[in-house]
Amino acid sequence: MTIVEDAKHGLVTEEMKIVAAAEGVTNDFVRRGIACGHIVIPMSPHRKVKLCGIGSGMRTKVNASIGTSSDIVNVEEEIEKARQAELAGADSLMELSTGGNFLDIRRRVIEATTLSVGSVPLYQAFIEAAREKGGVVFMEEEDLFKVTEKQAKLGTNFMAIHTGINYETMKRLKHQGRHGGLVSRGGAFMTAWMLHNEQENPLYRRFDYLVEILKEHEVTLSFGNGMRAGACHDATDRAAIQELLINAELADQAHAAGVQCIIEGPGHIPLDEIATNVQLEKRVTNNKPFYMLGPLVTDIAPGYDDRVAAIGASVSSAAGADFVCYVTPAEHLALPTPEEVYEGVISSRIAAHVGDMIKLPKTREMDLGMGHARRDLDWERQYAIALNAAKAREIRNARMPADTDACTMCGDFCAIKIVQKNFHF
Ligand code: SF4
Repeated sequence: MTIVEDAKHGLVTEEMKIVAAAEGVTNDFVRRGIACGHIVIPMSPHRKVKLCGIGSGMRTKVNASIGTSSDIVNVEEEIEKARQAELAGADSLMELSTGGNFLDIRRRVIEATTLSVGSVPLYQAFIEAAREKGGVVFMEEEDLFKVTEKQAKLGTNFMAIHTGINYETMKRLKHQGRHGGLVSRGGAFMTAWMLHNEQENPLYRRFDYLVEILKEHEVTLSFGNGMRAGACHDATDRAAIQELLINAELADQAHAAGVQCIIEGPGHIPLDEIATNVQLEKRVTNNKPFYMLGPLVTDIAPGYDDRVAAIGASVSSAAGADFVCYVTPAEHLALPTPEEVYEGVISSRIAAHVGDMIKLPKTREMDLGMGHARRDLDWERQYAIALNAAKAREIRNARMPADTDACTMCGDFCAIKIVQKNFHF
């Protein structure tokens, strides 16, 4: 039985207990969430991982995506990115290589991390077709399913699969028009293939078969967002909503069959449309976990897109999104370095916590603790609570004040010390 079937039969598994303890909720809360499709725990019978719960009542989780490109294939560097992502506190890793030997890279990354690992199997199927047959349009549909199974057997915990792109979605995309085009690689591959072959998307047409494979290997199905906007002006358009509706219906089917499901959401979106998108996703999917990509709330800050996405992710999380994909400062410019991966994860973790302060008020206890530690000028307690203790310590130690209780910001005129001498709270 899968974890969804266990939950529906009233069984509390070890995985549910681990997640319940980490989140400070009851075992039965997690079991009921999984049974209803409101919570997922990405797992795999092929590999033990650091489990994390994603969904209603859980802390917002952060994913870091890594992977080679056709220009830069450096497996050691990808392994280092996996390490940096884990060090920075990511909850999961997506290995999205599009260059080099796919299975070898994924195997080595999986060996190097304890995190849940996600993939986009169609990348491999389409790119291998391009390498061997001269174009992505020559991909044979059976390869999509073979690759999915091979990746599942490696211990991949969740897969982004582009089921929601069909003729209806494409018709809406065409009629609507786009300022920023189509920026999802999966969306681009699949639409090109469908147009060339005059065939419906096999992942949509043969969805039952896809579900059988995922169920056999207990892979969580993350419904890909192939129609996501690549420019804020295109957010929440008809194609994106059409894809969401299709994915919502398929997610109900997959969950009824015993497969855990996540729904992916927009990439570029103005701040005032975020809450609407979260409410819409939650309503039409019967409260399936929502995975926001970024989101990026302005298009004009290349070089700082980790911060742009953090603003979007904090509002998303506050509105009810459950899972956010980090963005690095290199977004839209280049394949990120390990350092940029680290920075991206930290930015998203800050955002996730900011959102959780609204969504899960108990998380404010950390802020209360920091407030008290600052009031008491207790630097070690501050470091213990800090999201990145090493960075906080490094900055302070590099510029130590004459009075070591205070800091060089105000030095002798430390407001806290002045208040300590004159007021008693
Ligand atoms: S010196 Fe200023 S910034 Fe530093 S701890 Fe005191 S009040 Fe805070």
